[in-house]
Amino acid sequence: AAAAPAPYLDNLNPEQRDAVETLDGPVLVLAGAGTGKTKVLTSRIAHILSTGRARPGEILSVTFTNKAAREMKHRLGIMLGQAVEGMPWLGTFHSIGGRILRSHAELVQLKSNFTVLDTDDQIRLLKQLLSAENIDDKRWPARMLAGLIDGWKNRGLTPAQVPAGEAAVFGNGKGGKLYKDYQERLKTLNAADFGDLLLECIRLFREHPDVLRSYQARFKFILVDEYQDTNVAQYLWLRLLSQGAARAPSPGEDNAIATQTAATRNICCVGDDDQSIYGWRGAEVDNILRFEHDFPGAKVIRLERNYRSTGHILAAASHLIAHNEGRLGKTLRTEDVDGEKVTVTGAWDSEEEARGVGEEIEQLQREGHKLNDIAILVRASFQMREFEDRFVTLGLPYRVIGGPRFYERAEIRDALAYLRVINSPADDLAFERIVNVPKRGLGDATVQMLHDHARRRRIPLSEAARQVIETDEMKPKARGSLRDLMLSFERWRKQMEVVSHTELAEVVLDESGYTEMWQKDRSADAAGRLENLKELVRSMEEFENLQGFLEHISLVMDREGAADEDAVSVMTLHSAKGLEFDNVFLPGWEEGLFPHQRALDEQGRAGLEEERRLAHVGITRARKRAKLYFATNRRIHGTWNTTIPSRFLDELPAANVEITESKGGNGWGGAGGYGSSRFDNLEAFGSTYSTPGWQRAQQQRGRSGGGYGDSFGGNSGGAKKRPMVIEGELVAKST
Ligand code: ATP
Ligand code: MG
Repeated sequence: AAAAPAPYLDNLNPEQRDAVETLDGPVLVLAGAGTGKTKVLTSRIAHILSTGRARPGEILSVTFTNKAAREMKHRLGIMLGQAVEGMPWLGTFHSIGGRILRSHAELVQLKSNFTVLDTDDQIRLLKQLLSAENIDDKRWPARMLAGLIDGWKNRGLTPAQVPAGEAAVFGNGKGGKLYKDYQERLKTLNAADFGDLLLECIRLFREHPDVLRSYQARFKFILVDEYQDTNVAQYLWLRLLSQGAARAPSPGEDNAIATQTAATRNICCVGDDDQSIYGWRGAEVDNILRFEHDFPGAKVIRLERNYRSTGHILAAASHLIAHNEGRLGKTLRTEDVDGEKVTVTGAWDSEEEARGVGEEIEQLQREGHKLNDIAILVRASFQMREFEDRFVTLGLPYRVIGGPRFYERAEIRDALAYLRVINSPADDLAFERIVNVPKRGLGDATVQMLHDHARRRRIPLSEAARQVIETDEMKPKARGSLRDLMLSFERWRKQMEVVSHTELAEVVLDESGYTEMWQKDRSADAAGRLENLKELVRSMEEFENLQGFLEHISLVMDREGAADEDAVSVMTLHSAKGLEFDNVFLPGWEEGLFPHQRALDEQGRAGLEEERRLAHVGITRARKRAKLYFATNRRIHGTWNTTIPSRFLDELPAANVEITESKGGNGWGGAGGYGSSRFDNLEAFGSTYSTPGWQRAQQQRGRSGGGYGDSFGGNSGGAKKRPMVIEGELVAKST
């Protein structure tokens, strides 16, 4: 190639450089976290562009999130020393698939302005189909069908391709027909769901080879990040696009000649089998293992130097993941300093955990660290609540990445709406939100009628409702239903005077049928929503009364920081993929939460290994500090449970880990409590724990303490006993 100045090549190591400069033919970069896979992809694009092998519009580059796509564009701009024009094909599978689909919509019976349905629309549509088929929505929930259809779409299966046995499991053998009807209905509505953005694109390519060929010719280079998490549909889509793709002309070669010798496929995928964490959503780590088979002549490049993390962090993460079987195995080294050890901190309960993390963050801030360099990565979204509340109290700016903030989640807003109406009957927005949630036959027409009535008399909706049920303006059924609801609200308001506000919340969620609605829901996220609802009730305990709680909520909701504000990032481990932060806090390392019980129950050993990869992803996000926490007590289902620290903690190498005291315990309690309870747990669980490395380290420091063994199970309202450590001795203390 013409020797253009290429600063973006200068700081690459030889293997990375090889991956960047091997432009012809398939390339797989299989390498561990922080080895520069994403950097290789970005440099590769820079190289392609600056050597003139392709124009921006001829490069297809797939990232895992839209955020990652923006980040890549930004980096490219820096590498090339100028803003990158275009790059229209840099994005997620879905955004690119959707874009292609729009250009050829009519070929798949859509119009180019088709709507992309969200989950709610999807469910509503499926419900209509269920009722048309006379299928009982209680027995066969629409959400379950939605889950099945998504699963089929992830596997690239059109209605005709779903194995008959599988389709039959739903609705007395009608699953297949429903899927077919659903697809037809979508066409009538000029709509597509998320899964269609790829599936319909695949169908388009299959049924219209000329269209496929035009894209094959257009995309001279294909690049894919996070390849270990591609599902079958994504894989099929990539295969179609990369097969027989035109080769970019070598310098001096005629474009036409290059296009004729179409055997070479310039596809470069990067990934790490140890970071495959979307198996539950249909990702197939096999895709990465099969690469060489699928793309004969592929060059496989391994990167071994980690540029992200310090020695202790990398050693801890590598040791942990080595407990998985069925890995490709790889070496990772760093030339960075050892740095600080990974810390493990036990807190008394989740509140103390949040307080401890809060104090550590304030300490880091005092030392001059930016909040932007700090992240909290949780296993389950309900864990965020405690941290968000703490940050609001401390006035620490934070942002939630990859999802809504805790109090903005749909189920939380619904529950809050009930409480708001109880607290303030004139709260129209709240009333309207829940008047028909769960469904009680008070649809749009009823709400419209209430609105009209309310506007005429200048009264709130709930007052209008009270008046209307005394008239015959409504059909008897709807009227009865609305009357029941209004009576419930009156009853709850009275109860508020005799029961605590937390009890009231439980009663309301129960009697309104709201909890039941999610219990009956068999979609993948229903369990998480129920967890969130429990967490909401739990969070209310910290306030005197309903009023105080609701005021706090409005404060939290109000705090919408600017996008460029210096703020702590809070997110789930799943959304942390590919990201890095100087300081990473990892709370909630307890059995049942992490590894998550559902993963163990539903997928056994495979589930455990996926959880361990998730733990590995978590630790490897850290550049300088990884801080693991667990709470000795956590409230689950309304009662206090003594937890067992995560087995993953035992799998960390003692030499790289430091046990620290919780800073959240007001100088007492804290780590002392965990030290001994930890010891108890180990005894109780005996040989399940093979190498309690960090426990040994702890004993060496002479704080192995005796157990305190006092039980506080089920003690939800009364005094909590907190243990206190005085020079290795444990004293129970009541508060
Ligand atoms: P993950 O598996 O977590 O996605 P990755 O392999 O994609 O990680 P990158 O995010 O590309 O790794 O790189 C990790 C960090 O190391 C980044 O900050 C990157 O800028 C830096 N880095 C990568 N290669 C080099 C290099 N040759 N010299 C200096 N820094 C590098
Ligand atoms: Mg990456």
